[in-house]
Amino acid sequence: MSIVKLARPEIQALTPYAAAEQVDDTIRLNANESPRPCAVGNFRRPLNRYPEVRPQKLRQALAQRFGCEPEQLLVTRGSSEAIDLVIRTFCQPQTGSVLTTTPSFSMYRHYAEVQGANIIEVPTLAEQDFAIDVDAILEACDDSTRLIFVCSPNNPTGTTLPRGELERLLELRGDKSAIVVDEAYVEFGDKPSVSELLGRFDNLLVLRTLSKALGFAGARCGGVAGPAPVIRLLSAVQAPYALATPVVECVEDALQANQLEMARKAVSEIIDERERLATALRCYDFVSKVWPSDANFLLIRVDDAARVMQRCGEEKILLRHFGGDLDDCIRISIGTPEENSQLLRALDMLKEDRNA
Ligand code: PMP
Repeated sequence: MSIVKLARPEIQALTPYAAAEQVDDTIRLNANESPRPCAVGNFRRPLNRYPEVRPQKLRQALAQRFGCEPEQLLVTRGSSEAIDLVIRTFCQPQTGSVLTTTPSFSMYRHYAEVQGANIIEVPTLAEQDFAIDVDAILEACDDSTRLIFVCSPNNPTGTTLPRGELERLLELRGDKSAIVVDEAYVEFGDKPSVSELLGRFDNLLVLRTLSKALGFAGARCGGVAGPAPVIRLLSAVQAPYALATPVVECVEDALQANQLEMARKAVSEIIDERERLATALRCYDFVSKVWPSDANFLLIRVDDAARVMQRCGEEKILLRHFGGDLDDCIRISIGTPEENSQLLRALDMLKEDRNA
């Protein structure tokens, strides 16, 4: 059995958009494009022509990076678009439901609301470093639960779901739900991507992005990996020509070996800085907790979050405060060594203010 049958019936019946044929070395009078080359930009492909409906070379290169076959990957405009596509493909408005854990990335809820899907929220175990509670997830599921979003490492807590627990979830939900593992931050941890499990589980979808470890947030590129029949459905829902020529070419360049090596070094520096910052932060008496993190940020608990935010703001340093259950917590993205040192100086000033 496949999770394809969980998709909305109208999407299962959808015929992919039939785009105008694109063949090299032909006179193209079939797509209502301008025949005149556009003088703007310096790209390898002519900008007066539509890009490929789905960029094949990029798909191959990204599939290799993400550890899946090209047919198992849809390249998307950031992983944000993948979240939207998955929800639109699987969730019938009013009747389908999306399960998310809390606290987690707010976009799962956002796109579920846009689609009119129901939302089931399952709290993580705050006292166990926000571990995902697989038993509670299984209990909260019902027949309408089409998608279970697992953000691992989780934003904003930095927690990774242990492999064994994920396998238990995949096994026990079987073809009743798709398990969507969002690995936006996977490169910053020491665990491999769960795309290794794609061959074993037909209900696994993996979201990846180039926005974090590759430093390509401005290019808007990511992807969703999963069983080929599901990827074909998602592809039918995605807009044709979704990836613009400048993006395709920039990302092709970013995937060259020398660029990847630079990105790898940048990730390694961020990991070192994360540990330096975590150690330094634990020394402030107003910081009561620094959670372990597998991501490019740290979550800390402080005595007076508003005051920390304000003092850092005065020093022109922006941090993230979410409120709600995390009202006394602040998420700090890891910057360059200089930026992180500036943050520590701002916190030193706050310490002096408090002692004055
Ligand atoms: N997933 C998670 C967990 C994120 O934190 C983010 C961005 N903050 C995204 C997905 C979306 O990233 P993008 O669309 O840039 O790939």
